[in-house]
Amino acid sequence: MNLYFRSHLMHWNRLENDRQMPWKGEKDPYRIWLSEIILQQTRVEQGISYYERFVTEFPSIRHLAVAPEAKVFKLWEGLGYYSRCRNLIITAKHIANELNGLFPTDLEGLRSLKGVGPYTAAAIASFAYDLPHAVVDGNVFRVLARFFGLSIPIDTKEGKAEFSKLAQQLLDKKAPALYNQAIMDLGAVICKPRSPNCNACPLVGRCRAFRDGNFEELPVKSPKPSRRKRYLYYVFAEKAGKVLIRERTGRDVWRHLHEFFLIEKKNPVKMNSIWQEIKRSGFPVPAIPVTQSFHGPYRQLLTHQEINALFIKIILRSNMPAPEGYAWRSKENLKDFAFPRLTRAFLSETEG
Ligand code: SF4
Repeated sequence: MNLYFRSHLMHWNRLENDRQMPWKGEKDPYRIWLSEIILQQTRVEQGISYYERFVTEFPSIRHLAVAPEAKVFKLWEGLGYYSRCRNLIITAKHIANELNGLFPTDLEGLRSLKGVGPYTAAAIASFAYDLPHAVVDGNVFRVLARFFGLSIPIDTKEGKAEFSKLAQQLLDKKAPALYNQAIMDLGAVICKPRSPNCNACPLVGRCRAFRDGNFEELPVKSPKPSRRKRYLYYVFAEKAGKVLIRERTGRDVWRHLHEFFLIEKKNPVKMNSIWQEIKRSGFPVPAIPVTQSFHGPYRQLLTHQEINALFIKIILRSNMPAPEGYAWRSKENLKDFAFPRLTRAFLSETEG
């Protein structure tokens, strides 16, 4: 079974696999690492333009290590999961400053880098150095679960261990880079999550899921816990071409991104009461009347959270000091700051 799987996969890869990606065949560990971090929780189609912008802006790890952090976050804007960007910066500085600009050359050393898990370490080790380590990403889970008819949940400790062991047994040790890319490509272009193209699949002859007709049920995942709901009320305060913003700090989502004056609630509240709370919260609403309008709600789903945001746009006609932690910034320059996706959507809809 293992020999059938490996030989049919590699044969298909040699003769039929024409999937193109800018980092495919890349041997530079920096570029491989960059592409893999971008692709964690991001679709390939979306990741390509980010990858190209990053390698143009930061052609080497030393360029990335010395770049202003705000510039790196700005380039990352829209990709989400900003802890990836923070880890990218930490690891770039670590490699540039502590490792003389050189990536570790074995699996253990790669695993010690911040933000590099088993999958990313195996990908760099095999693609850059042709070391015999099997990658196990979403595509690999899907192909293996279907071909072998495995119903153990892939997001459990036991499931991960079983799939990793199987992937390692199947790996073509003489051509780890080619094999790893081939199985991921097969999952991406043939054994797709929905409507797999079994007729074009090199593994169809012995595929359990094809035989049993249950490919839509595989791979199995544990039931997800429900997302925590959050309600954000943002005041977009504008005064003489300037807007009040601050950088998010603390251990919460969107750290290092920017935002407007914020009131957060656990449940949705009426606008009257939120307006009263804004006044009580230290936002120095002037005596002179203001123009105001409401926009939203805008919704953004994160892994464990559902964030709903309403924007209250006010135009002030008098001088007003910035509340503590906030600063007035030119509206023209808002494009230079990194904002969460829902805030960017609000800005592009209302400010153009
Ligand atoms: S035969 Fe179909 S279900 Fe089985 S591995 Fe190939 S594409 Fe996936």
